[in-house]
Amino acid sequence: MSTTPEHIHCLIIGSGPAGYTAAIYASRADLKPVLYTGMTPGGQLTETTEVDNFPGYPKGITGPELMEDLKAQAERFGTQVRFGLVTKADLNASPKRLWVDESTEITADTVIISTGASAKWIGLENETRLRMNAGGVSACAVCDGFFFRGQEVAIVGAGDTAAEEATYLSKLCKKVYMIVRRGEMRASKAMQHRVLNTPNIEVLWNSVTEDILGKDGVEGVVVKNTETNQSQTINVTGFFVAIGHKPNTDIFKGQLTMDELGYIEVVPGSTKTNIEGVFAVGDCADKHYRQAVTAAGSGCMGALDAERYLAAKGDH
Ligand code: NDP
Repeated sequence: MSTTPEHIHCLIIGSGPAGYTAAIYASRADLKPVLYTGMTPGGQLTETTEVDNFPGYPKGITGPELMEDLKAQAERFGTQVRFGLVTKADLNASPKRLWVDESTEITADTVIISTGASAKWIGLENETRLRMNAGGVSACAVCDGFFFRGQEVAIVGAGDTAAEEATYLSKLCKKVYMIVRRGEMRASKAMQHRVLNTPNIEVLWNSVTEDILGKDGVEGVVVKNTETNQSQTINVTGFFVAIGHKPNTDIFKGQLTMDELGYIEVVPGSTKTNIEGVFAVGDCADKHYRQAVTAAGSGCMGALDAERYLAAKGDH
């Protein structure tokens, strides 16, 4: 016996600041949104400690608390928040068809994708341990650089993000070591120029990170020069990783237009994708800003775009 799949007016996929903000706006507009959290309810911010740059919290707030607040605000207006992972989608169908946890089929009039992006990590055991214990390992200099004012830090990576973040850190920190695995950088020439002309950034070329030292917090980093095979320990208290992000968009490949890295492309100034009724918000569509507040702002835009789309169709 086949059962009719549950039909949802406004489906939101992902539970970071973008998803919850979309949910706040969509529920207040009576779109009756259902939000599926994914496997990390609250998204990347649940892995950070203090958030000092989200407007409205003059004393700062922890990442998990901020996400609980956003969730509560979305639920206050009737958003149904469900734990579950959307694993398959047919966005060209009408209505759109999606599957949760590889089994439950649902249909939707509008879909707001806020699946975020995941930072890439080097993969060292001590990197994971210190990251999980808020011990000074971070993938976001703009979020966490402030905690290392006047200290010496290291950053790994040689792309535009690493160059931008090294420059940002150089304004706060006494010294920044930039660990670059080859003899050249991938970053744009302008960004490289800025790095190389900043006196308190020292680039360690042809270098790989062998280990991160410290029990409760970073106390040093062992770096090996792959040309000389010599290892040295640099005495830093912060370790930043900027080796790229991976947008969580795999299940939409072949349906939504994406750039070569997998970020969903939207019509500039909107959250509209190439498929009508499907909107992309937050880090899955933004490789430049990646801030909680910019994600939240685009979540708001996604809900407004969804509401206008439904109104134009006479469905709302
Ligand atoms: P990228 O993929 O461009 O660069 C990643 C960097 O990390 C590369 O230099 C790579 O080295 C290095 N890397 C990868 N894995 C490791 C590893 N295991 N150990 C050490 N180093 C490693 O990522 P970005 O986040 O920098 O940029 C993503 C995109 O966003 C790019 O298109 C970029 O131009 C864009 N961007 C633009 C900005 C701007 O215009 N203002 C700001 C930020 C990003 P290798 O070079 O050897 O492969």
